Amino acid sequence: MKKTVFIVLSVLISLSGVIFIFSRLSSALWADVFQTPSDLPANLDAEVTPEKLSVSPPIPILMYHHITEYTNDGNPSIYVSPQHFEEQLQWLSDHGFQTVGLDSFRHPTPTTGKPFVLTFDDGYQDAYTQAFPVLKKYGFQATFYIVTNDMDKSGFLSENEMLEMKAAGMNFGSHSLSHPDLTGVFQRQAEEEIYGSKKALERELGTPVTDFCYPGGTNDRNIENIIANSGYETATTTVDKVVSGPTDPFRLNRLNIGDATNFDTLPALTSL
Ligand SMILES: [Zn+2]
Repeated sequence: MKKTVFIVLSVLISLSGVIFIFSRLSSALWADVFQTPSDLPANLDAEVTPEKLSVSPPIPILMYHHITEYTNDGNPSIYVSPQHFEEQLQWLSDHGFQTVGLDSFRHPTPTTGKPFVLTFDDGYQDAYTQAFPVLKKYGFQATFYIVTNDMDKSGFLSENEMLEMKAAGMNFGSHSLSHPDLTGVFQRQAEEEIYGSKKALERELGTPVTDFCYPGGTNDRNIENIIANSGYETATTTVDKVVSGPTDPFRLNRLNIGDATNFDTLPALTSL
């Protein structure tokens, strides 16, 4: 009898230990994936019909990723060498282009030159080491889309670099927490990725974040509703077109710029 009680007690104690360890592990995993407190507002998925913008004259939004030499690592189409990057900015400067911010879509800003927008995706560190000095040289402003879980990691922008760039007039937008295909994740994760990354970036920068960029360029109506209800004012896609005429602020097209892109033969720019 004594032996049976001892066995039952031992089993119960071991079982509670396993349950305790499992619960700690799963909450740690959850926190690691999202890195934000789970305090999402209700109804982030409520249906929104955004007011169309009227964009005239047309405004090209240029999309860059890495500004560094390609080293046979990853997708070559997202690399532009520092030399070609500078030549491209020189071309824009020579042809009378002048940067405007994404806020100019909602609040048109008068420009003396041809307006265009510069964007950089993924928050790589070469945005600071390579792109930033050239942008300052030409007096251009840009928006950098940050994957907030990657901030301060090796190869990505650090908080201090971002604050220095911000002080020099650069703008930062969200590119989600972890760069998933937002149309392929559970509703709860999509909301965390969109709303949580905005809050994380705002904590880091100390200013409102109003611009979003779809990871991998994938979006649908549900994702656009979450974007609008989270307080963003714009979202950019990877549809290779100039923004012109009546435009949905959450479907802003962008021109993909590669290392071999020749602005002299790019009708999207030469026609402006
Ligand atoms: Zn990306």
